Amino acid sequence: MASTAALIVAAGKGERAGGGVPKQFRRLGAWPLLRWSVDLFLRHPSISSVHVVVGDGQRELYDAAVQGITLPAPISGGAERQESVRKGLEALRALSPTHVLIHDAARPLATHTLIDRVLDALRAGAEAAIPMVSVADTLRRRTDDGNWQLVSRVGLHRAQTPQGFRFDRILEAHLANAKTQVTDDMAIAELAGLQVVATAGEESNLKVTAEEDFTIAERLLAAGESRTAMGYDAHRFAEGDHVWLCGVQIPHEKSLEGHSDADAGLHALTDAILGAIGAGDIGQHFPPTDQRWRGAPSWKFLDHAASLVRDRGGRIMHCDVTLICERPRIGPYREAMRARIAEILDLDISRVSVKATTTEGMGFTGRGEGLAAHAVATIVL
Ligand code: MG
Repeated sequence: MASTAALIVAAGKGERAGGGVPKQFRRLGAWPLLRWSVDLFLRHPSISSVHVVVGDGQRELYDAAVQGITLPAPISGGAERQESVRKGLEALRALSPTHVLIHDAARPLATHTLIDRVLDALRAGAEAAIPMVSVADTLRRRTDDGNWQLVSRVGLHRAQTPQGFRFDRILEAHLANAKTQVTDDMAIAELAGLQVVATAGEESNLKVTAEEDFTIAERLLAAGESRTAMGYDAHRFAEGDHVWLCGVQIPHEKSLEGHSDADAGLHALTDAILGAIGAGDIGQHFPPTDQRWRGAPSWKFLDHAASLVRDRGGRIMHCDVTLICERPRIGPYREAMRARIAEILDLDISRVSVKATTTEGMGFTGRGEGLAAHAVATIVL
């Protein structure tokens, strides 16, 4: 059966974009730059495996960037991009995929539509498929004598990644042209005489290079449709010696009653996230009648809701939980709760808020019969 591997090149050493680390490990929005591409390819149904090439001494940065994701071990790159790609392709030889998509980690905004066009060209028989965009700006070349010479832009295009290839042919091409320095894999393909097909690129698929590119990319990432939804939950106190709230176990003279671990905070948040994508509520996904969820830890519910957001190509941007109870006291556990939610949702902690209030003795929470939680989640689709 035909298989397609994704090879993400993330071995650059350049720190000129700022931030004190090579740019592929610098944070862009919620994640390090590299992780956007890893996530993009992992979510694509036609990609059979995702491999990353990193530079010497970058293993720790890499591990932090892909924390929580199961990937094959990273491949050690070389001094130049071309050598890194060649080493990556050689490492894939054992898998011998039918096709390989080679992508620069510096392009975090590639899309599944872009990938699909490359894959369609490969499936139609192309040996190489390269996304291209036309050049709109007027071009001038700076000459040695300090003048600006007009360059006709007619027919000029910019080559982007991911560039797709028949695996055996591009491996062979890289091995045969290891000594000729070029800037992308299309050039290698041409040197080896591969038949190259151009596909439509995307203006938004920018290559993050300079400091200002991070700002532009962050704006583009946040530019989807923003949706905000709420969730609410309440549980009754019963005999016991601890409660679970927002994924944290808190010693208390009572426990909360419920089919699962009765974590009202995570239940409210799960409902808020499901609400933002119109995916029903927690009871539909995890019916209390289902024995599988008896005593279940509620992080599983939250994790499931987050995976549904990802499946739709969305991202959770922010969430806010308010716990309502007289006791236990939430303050001492607030930061642990934020950290736990951030971990489950794979968000930076600055995007997670946990608050608490009492109802000054009024109502069921005031009488200590139970506690309640409100949550709001914002996602971008
Ligand atoms: Mg509940």
